[in-house]
Amino acid sequence: MKVLIWGARGSVPCFSKRKNHFGTNTPCVEVKFSKTERIILDAGTGLVSMGNSIFEKSNLSTEPFNIFLSHFHWDHIQGLPFFKPVFQKEVSINIYGKEEIDKVFSSQMITPFYPVPFGNLPAKINAVHVDSSISLFSAKITPFQLNHPQGCIGYRIEHNGKILVYATDTEPDEGKLDKILIDHSKGADLLIMDSNNTPEEAAFRKGWGHSTYIDCVNIANKADVKRLILFHHDPFHDDSVVFEKEAKAKRLFRNSFAAFEDMQIDV
Ligand SMILES: [Zn+2]
Repeated sequence: MKVLIWGARGSVPCFSKRKNHFGTNTPCVEVKFSKTERIILDAGTGLVSMGNSIFEKSNLSTEPFNIFLSHFHWDHIQGLPFFKPVFQKEVSINIYGKEEIDKVFSSQMITPFYPVPFGNLPAKINAVHVDSSISLFSAKITPFQLNHPQGCIGYRIEHNGKILVYATDTEPDEGKLDKILIDHSKGADLLIMDSNNTPEEAAFRKGWGHSTYIDCVNIANKADVKRLILFHHDPFHDDSVVFEKEAKAKRLFRNSFAAFEDMQIDV
């Protein structure tokens, strides 16, 4: 699998005049299984960059896009209305996630919030409720529950003997949901996990549904993960905060890396 990070920030796209190594866009991760086979994890503003890149390279294929949503909070869906392929009538897009997909987008992309109603977009958009393992291309994709307000889905993706786990927007619960996350991360070659909060912030952000780098390292160790990607950076953390988070995580788990926009990882 080839993994490409299009957006690694959480909550809201950020812009800073200071140097910003980690990027500004909200979650979007592309996973390629071959030249033409790929899935997309989340539709944050990183999806807009991905769509632009496809058009710049005249790379629009007839294969449907397959987008797996973790949940419907703004930072995970905001790129969809500005994803250029939605305006192409020859394009098909399958959106996987919780069962209310149609209802959510139909009530989000509506006057006065957006000029084109969801149902009138030229692309053929198909909502798929995913509540158990599915096979797509030659991959097996298994959804599982995370701990986040209004719920969130993680995905375990198995392909050619390799395992990738995407677990954004989750907070430790020291119980059932931690066990679900550990079980689904078992033996993963790559774990991409929410690391939004510093330990100091976590103390007054209980119930916000996010983790720290220490939580990520705990899961990675317990699940025997090979590589850890710290993801969903707080939009107000500048480079120094994220680099410090990465350095501290490396001391506890050597194969820790902070996600940045345009990061490419072979799994
Ligand atoms: Zn988020």
